[in-house]
Amino acid sequence: MNYTIEKMEKSNILFKTKFYYLHILVIVFASTFLLITTGCENVKKEEKITIKTDTLTQAKQNDTSVNIYLTFDDGPYLSTLGLANSLIKDNVKSSFFVIGSQITASKYYDSVFSIIKQNSLFKTYNHTFSHAITHGKIKKYYKYPVNVWNDIQKNKQYLDMGCNITRLPGTNAWRFQNSNKCYSNQSARLLFKYLDSIHSNEKMFGWDFEWTDKESKNIADVDHLFYMIFDQIKKNNSKEKNYVILLHDYLFRNESSLNNLSYFISLLKKNLHPKFKWANEYPGII
Ligand SMILES: [Zn+2]
Repeated sequence: MNYTIEKMEKSNILFKTKFYYLHILVIVFASTFLLITTGCENVKKEEKITIKTDTLTQAKQNDTSVNIYLTFDDGPYLSTLGLANSLIKDNVKSSFFVIGSQITASKYYDSVFSIIKQNSLFKTYNHTFSHAITHGKIKKYYKYPVNVWNDIQKNKQYLDMGCNITRLPGTNAWRFQNSNKCYSNQSARLLFKYLDSIHSNEKMFGWDFEWTDKESKNIADVDHLFYMIFDQIKKNNSKEKNYVILLHDYLFRNESSLNNLSYFISLLKKNLHPKFKWANEYPGII
């Protein structure tokens, strides 16, 4: 009997021990399962966030557009036709701001102006008749707003221009009646005051970036100009991003300068996928 009890007690202890280990095993198993499932849940949550962010980025990309306005001043010039051919090859809309007194200088310039005017890729705009030359220095020119206004109108009549878009000579100023794009510097202030007083609807078209002699000569400067534009576009949160670039006809006198311009246009196309537009397509100008 004792033997049996002892045996039973031993058996009971063994059972308890087994049960104890089984209990621990269940706890470990349950904890591991819990850990794994919680971990999975976190991964799933992370995946959801990633998808959400990607979708937002995608939507943002689809939602924004970049418009580039290539504007060429001070023509017609000896280099204008070569420049025009290069722009035709690159198939980019361009705006030419023309000086009337330049055309009076030779019949050749007259024919250059006609060729530019007739090409469907280009539009011509007012850059005043005298370009402030006949009035001496730029500062003196802007002292007499009535004269500046007469100079603008004279060019409009001489070139038979229907639109009211002018780029002022030697100064970067903006004037649109129905837009926040209105910036007057010291030179243009008197003129704008005068134009307001006569209720003139004339729009002044400034610029955001300038292509200079450096870009015409050095490819590294073209890269630099492009990155300045690219940087601005990255910082700009607007849905529609508009950038006006000022260039001059006379800066494209040789093949290497034209190659640099084509390279610049290829950088813009490849990296920003912009629409090239004319000055009269600028938001708020009409
Ligand atoms: Zn000019």
